[in-house]
Amino acid sequence: MKGKLIVVSGPSGSGKSTATRLVRDRLQIPLSISATTRLPRTGEIDGKDYFFLEKEDFENRITNGEFYEYALVHGNYYGTLREEVESRINSGQNVILEIDVQGGLIVKEKNSEAILVFFKAPSMEILAKRLGDRKTDSKEVIKLRLANAKKELEYEKEYDYTVVNDNLEKACQELINIINK
Ligand code: 5GP
Repeated sequence: MKGKLIVVSGPSGSGKSTATRLVRDRLQIPLSISATTRLPRTGEIDGKDYFFLEKEDFENRITNGEFYEYALVHGNYYGTLREEVESRINSGQNVILEIDVQGGLIVKEKNSEAILVFFKAPSMEILAKRLGDRKTDSKEVIKLRLANAKKELEYEKEYDYTVVNDNLEKACQELINIINK
């Protein structure tokens, strides 16, 4: 039997990364590592957090058809490598992709059985506060991410499920229930 392909998307600050990491650990779903052209943040490790690629390298891989999906997000390329998805699903493993909304729709088009889960903060005010509290991004980057959040929220209706993340444990449990359905 094929594994399930779960896509988790939502604005930066929606808590999707933390929830996805916890759920992956609990359900023992291996990590799918994306490639990106953005610079590593302090503490991020190449091959663990992302495969950090030069733009030219990323574009060559697009041409070679190495990506299952990719998109330009906040001015940088992000993409899921084919090898992170196809062989795993075919061998019966579940895969969780934490990717942006453009990527989510590409996945849905490729695989109609993919389960799309949209994460959001309870309000824009709370989202803004969370992004400020993270202290990982500059003011300009935060502004850009908030503007993008508004656009991303328009994609919620294309998703199969929404998780409003006002409590991490509750959000994780909701995601687990969706996966186990
Ligand atoms: P960050 O720079 O904060 O790590 O990620 C920024 C955005 O890129 C997030 O919305 C994240 O979900 C998205 N992202 C990460 N990896 C991928 C990927 O492989 N494909 C797509 N389409 N988006 C990704």
